[in-house]
Amino acid sequence: MEEIRSRTVVVTGGSAGIGAATVRRLATDGWSVLAGARRLDLLREVCEPVGAAAAGLDVTDEASVAEFVDVADRLGFGKLNLLVNNAGAALGVDSVEGAQEDLWRRMFELNVMGTLHLTRAFLGRLRASGDGHVVNLGSVAGFETYPGGGGYTASKHAVRALTKTLRRELLGEPVRVTEVAPGLVETEFSVVRFDGDRDRADSIYRGMTPLVADDVADCIAWAASRPSHVNIDEIVVRPRDQATATSVHRREEND
Ligand code: NAP
Repeated sequence: MEEIRSRTVVVTGGSAGIGAATVRRLATDGWSVLAGARRLDLLREVCEPVGAAAAGLDVTDEASVAEFVDVADRLGFGKLNLLVNNAGAALGVDSVEGAQEDLWRRMFELNVMGTLHLTRAFLGRLRASGDGHVVNLGSVAGFETYPGGGGYTASKHAVRALTKTLRRELLGEPVRVTEVAPGLVETEFSVVRFDGDRDRADSIYRGMTPLVADDVADCIAWAASRPSHVNIDEIVVRPRDQATATSVHRREEND
């Protein structure tokens, strides 16, 4: 691991779930980590024990992004090796006909525009390192659809398109581009989706064994630790109990 000891990474959405697991994993592997999220207290609880830096960040707010970049520069992340665009959410399960447009807008602002803001903000710094890498958190929702998932799947399809476009636009430059696309991962994701309704959130994982955040952090760490000439274009990772977004094996029903 000696060669990654001086390598720098920014992780968005580091206060919970996959982002928190990624902060812990990369810091433990020897990366210099700067993480951002809105809930700074929670973020600090994740970062401090592993020696990672924490700073407030709302990826949807350009002023907050600019402030975060200033902090990054001050803390020595001006030459960046890895940007993990992880901050994201699904909000509700509206049909297309019944769409609550404010929720759809918020998903687009967070998942698509947030990824765009951070990528644009750090691309020059990724180039400046001479060995940069952007990892975007997509989802199986980036290439599948399901009833009630229109807003989220549309936003993750957009993340996938943005990621593939960036890969083409950066061809010939020292910046790799990867999409990590998980299936069901038990995090705060479903609690957020159902606006704090924990019973409804728990029902998503009932009778099956979902991925945990560490499983996805492992994929990110693996992609980032390949030699610089190796670009892992995409990783699709699901629980063994899940074959498609809606095809899930539940023991209480099937066994
Ligand atoms: P999570 O546990 O809800 O964590 C989401 C993280 O995003 C939190 O740290 C949250 O921090 C941060 N965040 C939300 N809005 C933000 C904003 N405006 N600015 C900065 N940070 C923000 O969800 P997760 O499962 O870890 O999801 C992480 C990523 O994986 C998302 O992109 C999600 O779409 C994707 N994904 C998840 C699953 C799954 O089943 N869990 C499956 C496929 C893909 P604050 O609230 O403190 O800001």
